[in-house]
Amino acid sequence: MMGHTHMLIGAAAGAVWAVSQGWDTNFVVISAAGAAISAIVPDIDHPQGHIRQRMGILSGLLDWLPHRGITHSLAMLIWWALAMYLGTGDIRTAMPGILGYASHLIADMMTKSGIPLFLPFHAGRIYALPRLMRLRTAGISEQLIAGVAALLLLPYIDIGQISGVLTTVGGDMVRWYGDAVRLFIP
Ligand SMILES: [Zn+2]
Repeated sequence: MMGHTHMLIGAAAGAVWAVSQGWDTNFVVISAAGAAISAIVPDIDHPQGHIRQRMGILSGLLDWLPHRGITHSLAMLIWWALAMYLGTGDIRTAMPGILGYASHLIADMMTKSGIPLFLPFHAGRIYALPRLMRLRTAGISEQLIAGVAALLLLPYIDIGQISGVLTTVGGDMVRWYGDAVRLFIP
């Protein structure tokens, strides 16, 4: 599936999780964003993927990864979940990142190419759907799924509020910078 579809599905999963936890609206946005980013991590094995495109010359370091290989496996999802858990120290906070990654694997599993879910133990492709129902990447059904994910997100998207979160984060950074400068200039 395409990067933006993965991001939309991940963001929707992150938003739904945040709401189910009763988190306030700022955290819904942060949770959705974290899940959206995690949702494109598996395609780090794709030279044309969102992340690799932004890595510049460093992208070459990942050329050895076959597309839809080990990063699209249950084993890697478990590693990712562990990293998220250790990074945040709390399973509820780690969950948007875990859901984002998992949503990518589930979405790709619905396509015609399937994924090698049980690598490194079993290299065969695993599919979530019977042959005739499998989706074609960038096909009409993928657009439809992306549309539904976007609709799911709609109730949580409030441009004013998102810019509020960004302003708060931006304001904090300016303050930290000011504090740091004052350390040196009395
Ligand atoms: Zn993928």
